[in-house]
Formats: sequence, structure tokens, C-alpha cells
Amino acid sequence: MNKYLEQLVELSKYDTQISSFEPQIKNQKAKLEEFSKDAIALREEINKLESEIKDIKNKRAKHDAHLGELKDKLNDISKKGAIVQTEKEIKALQLEEEITKEQISFSNEEIERLDKLQDNKNNALKEAVSKLSEEEDSIKELEAKIEESIKSISEQRNEVSYKRGELVEKVDPKILSFYEKVKRWAKNSAVVPVRKQACYGCYMKISDKIYAEVIKSEEIVTCPHCGRILYKEVEITE
Ligand SMILES: [Zn+2]
Repeated sequence: MNKYLEQLVELSKYDTQISSFEPQIKNQKAKLEEFSKDAIALREEINKLESEIKDIKNKRAKHDAHLGELKDKLNDISKKGAIVQTEKEIKALQLEEEITKEQISFSNEEIERLDKLQDNKNNALKEAVSKLSEEEDSIKELEAKIEESIKSISEQRNEVSYKRGELVEKVDPKILSFYEKVKRWAKNSAVVPVRKQACYGCYMKISDKIYAEVIKSEEIVTCPHCGRILYKEVEITE
């Protein structure tokens, strides 16, 4: 193969490799982000449970205070019971006592219900906290792994960039600027193989004459349809 063409094939391979590193790094970061979603959801759940528990405690405290008042009232009623004389007064007092007792039993039921609810919420909270701590440990592990793999990707990128730099110094400036011009629009497919007598950039058949030139590869041949630089692979490997 023509030396210039050979250099361009190599250069194009380096450029393709270099442009693949950034998406690889992004991919690693996305993985971590996806994994962190569970932890974020758990933190939200914990906040919600904590505020619900606080709410339940407030309600319970109100019932406690109310219960105290109701018990005082019941004491007053029994004191009054010793004083009242008339049938009407006795009946009124009995009614008041009944209502107060009903209120007390309602408050007690509410307290019981709230205590159960608080127990449930406390258990859920404990579970969420322990899950979060597990999750955070795994995140730390994953973070370390991802950091490691990003470091290795960066090292590979530096290595390829270095090799590319070395190669570029050897390439004829005119050939290099021609390659850069094609690359501006063709991106990573500036230099493409010919397979089954077709350009592997635009997939159009090329004429026998141009195909013969590609096989000879004495000079740089471009695709007549798209303008990409063509070369014949030594061995076709898919
Ligand atoms: Zn083409």
C-alpha cells in the first residue's frame, strides 16, 4: 500500500479511537448516576417518614393534654355530684359525665391507634435507614470502580493521542490537510475500505476503473460519489 495512504488509514483509526473515549467516560458516569437514584429515593422516603412521625407525636401530645383535661373534668363532676340537689341537676350532671367518659374513651382509642401507627412508621424508618446505609456502601464501591475505569480510559486516550501526534509529524502536510478537510464532514469515516467493490462510507458501487486504482493503491483515491478516501483492506474482517 502507498505509504501516505497507509498513514491515513492509521491516522483515521486513531481518530476513531480517540472520539470513542469521551462517550465511554460519559457512559461510566451515567452508570453511577443511575445507581444513585435509589439512594436519592431512599433519602426522600426517610424525610417523609420522619415528618410523618413528628406529626403523629404532635397529635398524640394533643390527645394526652386533652385526656388530662377530661380527667379533671370528671373529678369536678364527681365533686359536684355530692352538692347537687334537684332531679334536673342530677340528670344534667349524669349526661355531662357520660359525654366526658365517651370523649375519654375516644381519646384513648386515638392514642392507641396513633401508637400503632408510630410503631409501623418507626419500623419502616429503621428499614429505610439500613437500606440507605447499604446503598451508600455500594455507591462508594461503584464510585471507586468507576473512577478506576475512567482513569484507565484516560490513560488509553493519552496513549493513542501520543501515537497520533507521532504519526502526524511524519505525514506530508498536504496529505494531512486533505484528510482533515474530508474529516470535517465525514467525521470518523474519512478513510473507508472498499468492500464488494463498494465504498464503505456511502455504500455506492465504484467503477471498475476506480476499483482498479484502489487495488493498485499507488495514490490517494477518493470515492467519486461521496469524496471519502478509499483503501483496499488486506484481509476482510468483519
Ligand atoms: Zn463513497
